[in-house]
Amino acid sequence: MALLSFLGAIQQVTGSCYLVESRDGAKVLLECGMRQGRREDEEGNRGAFAFDPLSLDAVVVSHAHIDHTGLLPKLVSAGYRGPVFATNATCELMELMLLDAANIQEKDTEWENKWRARLGKAPIDPLYTTEDAEQTLKQRRPQKYDQPCEVAPGVQVTFHDAGHILGSAIVEMQVQDHHLTRRLVFSGDLGNSCSPLMRKATTLDQADVILMESTYGDRDHRSSSETIEELAEILQQAHRDGGNVLIPAFAVGRTQDLIYHLGRFYQEGRLPQQAVFLDSPMAIRANAIYSHFPHLFNAADQATIAANHIKRIEDWLPVLRCTPTPEESMAINRIKSGAVIIAGSGMCTGGRIAHHFKHNLWRSDCHVVFPGFQARGTPGRAIVEGASTVKMLHQRIAVKAQVHTLGGFSAHAGQSQLLDWVSHFDHHPELYLVHGELEKMQILQQVLRERLNWIANIPEPGEQIAL
Ligand SMILES: [Zn+2]
Repeated sequence: MALLSFLGAIQQVTGSCYLVESRDGAKVLLECGMRQGRREDEEGNRGAFAFDPLSLDAVVVSHAHIDHTGLLPKLVSAGYRGPVFATNATCELMELMLLDAANIQEKDTEWENKWRARLGKAPIDPLYTTEDAEQTLKQRRPQKYDQPCEVAPGVQVTFHDAGHILGSAIVEMQVQDHHLTRRLVFSGDLGNSCSPLMRKATTLDQADVILMESTYGDRDHRSSSETIEELAEILQQAHRDGGNVLIPAFAVGRTQDLIYHLGRFYQEGRLPQQAVFLDSPMAIRANAIYSHFPHLFNAADQATIAANHIKRIEDWLPVLRCTPTPEESMAINRIKSGAVIIAGSGMCTGGRIAHHFKHNLWRSDCHVVFPGFQARGTPGRAIVEGASTVKMLHQRIAVKAQVHTLGGFSAHAGQSQLLDWVSHFDHHPELYLVHGELEKMQILQQVLRERLNWIANIPEPGEQIAL
């Protein structure tokens, strides 16, 4: 039997990593994600890999988010020189994500080494460098959707659209093991069918083993039309209050959704703010990549794009002002009212949003809108949970602004969508829940048993199963 090891995103939502080993000797790493959130989780990124990086034949990644790709440069720094398979769009987005991650690693280490020196402690090395990220990019092997490719002897992979972010994929892996072929389907991150631009997640019906994400295994999102209305109302209220609106957003995926929705409000005369700032160099570059792949959008949005001669994502929203340089970003600090500011990072762990918080979070006339998931231990989660102050940029800032969480903009499938996706498989293959917090998985496990009469497994970190 081939073996599957559960190495990461087990009973948690970040650090996606699985290892497939066939008896014939093929060894394929599925995902090489970074752990994010709590400090102890992030410390976990520093540990040695649970396998010998030089023994791998190939790496396959489902999509470009850092919790699925972020340790690739570390793998390369440990000597891996083999191929990294992903879809075409994922390969383009990876360039953006990995170079940014390397830059953050280098900057954070430089900062940390300054205070370590003052304490008389030895300096530490960054997790990886820009050079490692650049080398990783050379190892990419871009693939089209729905076309099987052999990634290692006897291991064939097909990427199917997962509808989560541009280029995101469900990974179907066929493993030849002596005379037996076993089919593993990894859901990757499944999209929310209400997400703009994206297509619906592909449904499959054949598998021997399924790994399914369960980020929102415990509940359904609010309906997207309600969420869109809620956002429109927040913008009206913020206009009446006279303050700014801050939206911490992931550069890839969420930002493009927001531009789309704000563009709709603008067209309908429902956007009272005069300016929307996209204060994220990374999101600005992500927009350009999205604009390269309009053929991957859903049919309805492709038709709108063609009818309105839209060439770039920015064209959806005429009042959008991109501020790539630090000078342009700092100039936003002078604006006290009437602005919508979209900036990273999505969970407020750093980036330009921290500076905008410094100028706006303590003001009761300002509004903060969280359109995405906030992992445990992040400043974003603290604010959502009602903290009266948060530490940011090495100082405490009072949370006086009005805080809103928009449930319906998630780029992840809600519980019903997960059930619907998995219900297409014939004969209830072995099912493992991954990429979710334990309590949420347990609720999904119960619902699977009650509604589909299907017993799902929750693996333990490091657990191995026969494939
Ligand atoms: Zn993702």
